[in-house]
Amino acid sequence: MALIVQKYGGSSVADAESIKRVAKRIVDTRRAGHDVVVAVSAMGDTTDELLELAHEVAPLPAPRELDMLLSSGERISMALLAMTIHSMGFEARSFTGSQAGMITDSHHGKARIVDVTPIRLREALDEGAIVIVAGFQGFNRDTRDITTLGRGGSDTTAVALAAALKADVCEIYSDVDGIYTADPRVIPRAQKLDHISSEEMLELAANGAKVLYIRAVEYARRHGVIIHARSTFSSSEGTYVLGTGMKNPRESEGAVMEEPIVAGVATDVTQAKITVAGVPDVPGKAAEIFKIVSKAGANVDMIVQNVSAATTGRTDISFTVPKADASTTLKALAAEQTEVGFENLLHDDQIGKLSVVGAGMRTHSGVSSILFQALSASGINIEMISTSEIRISVVLRGTDLADAARSVHAAYGLDSEIEAIVHAGTGR
Ligand code: ADP
Ligand code: ASP
Ligand code: MG
Repeated sequence: MALIVQKYGGSSVADAESIKRVAKRIVDTRRAGHDVVVAVSAMGDTTDELLELAHEVAPLPAPRELDMLLSSGERISMALLAMTIHSMGFEARSFTGSQAGMITDSHHGKARIVDVTPIRLREALDEGAIVIVAGFQGFNRDTRDITTLGRGGSDTTAVALAAALKADVCEIYSDVDGIYTADPRVIPRAQKLDHISSEEMLELAANGAKVLYIRAVEYARRHGVIIHARSTFSSSEGTYVLGTGMKNPRESEGAVMEEPIVAGVATDVTQAKITVAGVPDVPGKAAEIFKIVSKAGANVDMIVQNVSAATTGRTDISFTVPKADASTTLKALAAEQTEVGFENLLHDDQIGKLSVVGAGMRTHSGVSSILFQALSASGINIEMISTSEIRISVVLRGTDLADAARSVHAAYGLDSEIEAIVHAGTGR
């Protein structure tokens, strides 16, 4: 008998029919003799709809109240799921994040889990119940307020529960059959991976692949939790995310698998580009600019500085930040224009970022040249480039992103013979 943690995303519990399908899967796992703990997301696009509602009543909703509001989405689905399981003749009990012992810091909207004390969950399991926990939410001990873990945070709830309860596996169910070499909504020829290293998954998640939430992958790596990403809508095996030294549960003893050089391609349209034009080309200006940006709370991703024009002694500095942070960043910079001495500020939210990720880049040469050749053959212009040890990213026009991703995916030999299946969801 194993202890299995399962997480069902919004598209898996979008309506009554879907909730019944999920309940049946949970009951089947229970029937097979396992203890089951479930983390559940809000139904369908509920979180987005609640957010829109909040912004209709207040331009800048108070963070504490926003967390109260958003956490209610998961309460609805947890109760409905527990009721459904009950009606199937099984004992199920639902718990909010705070009842489940999800203790976080006090950072509303992006709280981090600092402790998990699943006492009530243990009791319920000991009494033979199936445990359902509202994902995405926690509780701060100092403020005694409800917090949320950031968009996609139910994945983290599941992984944290798996770690605290020492579960055998953490199954993350969504509307695709596993982790693919690219988002199958963008590249229908993407291939499902049997497994992926957690360092590669972290890079993919950080660069737009929302199939797993980056903090969940991080948490799993730190606590040695095996993630199995799979689909609610089919019974096929999905993809295992494995940290260093973790054994692939599917691999037979002694079998060594040849790892591909490139694990996958990720696309991201959530960044905007800001250009500070006409910056005096003297020491200290970059420091001044990025101090202002960091004070504004924006997370800078890519940076490019042009060669300064000899006649003017001025240069342009461009960088990318999340679209959501762009306007505060621009305001903060504009307020210091005279101080810094730049000429102009430009804002561009029509960019797209394409990233190629693979641990094999460490030991193979020529990986970047394939990317650049593929883009050049498709006549696509590159605006910015950045690299890490296992990733190359380029910024392009947003309208070129899908074409670019398809040609790069093909150039690395990642295209599959058959089209990937996306079962449900709006991809929102
Ligand atoms: P859930 O609501 O269940 O949490 P998400 O919408 O967060 O599900 O994540 C699943 C979606 O992630 C898929 O529908 C797919 O469009 C997208 N996705 C992005 N990159 C990938 C990838 N590499 N492999 C699989 N799915 C991906
Ligand atoms: N419901 C939350 C969201 O939409 C959390 C989650 O689904 O993981 O972001
Ligand atoms: Mg998700």
